[in-house]
Amino acid sequence: MDLIVARNREDLVKARGGGEVALVPTMGALHEGHRSLMRLARSRADQVVVSVFVNPLQFGPNEDFSRYPRTFEADLEVCRAEGVDVVFHPNAEDMYRPDRQVSLLAGRMGEIVEGESRPGHFDGVLTVVLKLFNLVQPSVAVFGQKDAQQLALIRRMVADLDVPVEIVGAPTVREHDGLALSSRNRYLSEDDRQVALALSRALRAGEAERRPGAIREAAREVLAAAGPRLDVDYVVLVDPATFTEVGEEHAGEAVLAVAARVGATRLIDNVVLNVNPD
Ligand code: AMP
Repeated sequence: MDLIVARNREDLVKARGGGEVALVPTMGALHEGHRSLMRLARSRADQVVVSVFVNPLQFGPNEDFSRYPRTFEADLEVCRAEGVDVVFHPNAEDMYRPDRQVSLLAGRMGEIVEGESRPGHFDGVLTVVLKLFNLVQPSVAVFGQKDAQQLALIRRMVADLDVPVEIVGAPTVREHDGLALSSRNRYLSEDDRQVALALSRALRAGEAERRPGAIREAAREVLAAAGPRLDVDYVVLVDPATFTEVGEEHAGEAVLAVAARVGATRLIDNVVLNVNPD
């Protein structure tokens, strides 16, 4: 069956097939990372719905909402190639009525690390994700580990609000040289791209260490060595579920997460590692 494009709840109801639905929420400008999520979704349900929506609520006033890449026709081709059943592509005016009042608050976890740099970002993410769940009514939704704090917060939302959707995390897809795929990579010049490689290099340097202090130190050194064109926002080693910094005696999984700006482009990356192994 050919791909269905749904613009609103009525279209989604008509497109419903009767079986289990897996949702892949995206902001479009689809790349190989998104495709891996679609394949995982396909393996988990009868029908795959991909949403393509650049959510104004999750962008701050000085962020890149207006220049975020919008490539809908190409996105449709990607979805067709992946055998997606439905692309949900709503208008911002339909998603957010002018008289709307109620939205979600991400709480403390939404205010730290990435949330400290982007106030209100995770409130906007959780609000749109809950709306998408209510509109699409999936039994499964797939999110990338690339946005580790987002994934952790969505798990938290589903647990705290008893949302009947299973959350599946998908590994980060990278270029051969280590750069994590991102829709924002298309802003990067070839020179910027070389600078941006320091992020994944820093994560690998951290992975080679065992103790929290040494892990953070190794990552910071690599980022510092990239020079002034890399404007580092944070390097943290945090608990995967709470995003609070782990102590020196922590043993087990932790997320090493970095954020930095190259020119006007803000990039994030992370890796899950095993700290203080026996
Ligand atoms: P975005 O369109 O950037 O909002 O991302 C949509 C989904 O794709 C989110 O769940 C992201 O975590 C995921 N994603 C983005 N980049 C990658 C990547 N390189 N590998 C795997 N998943 C990704």
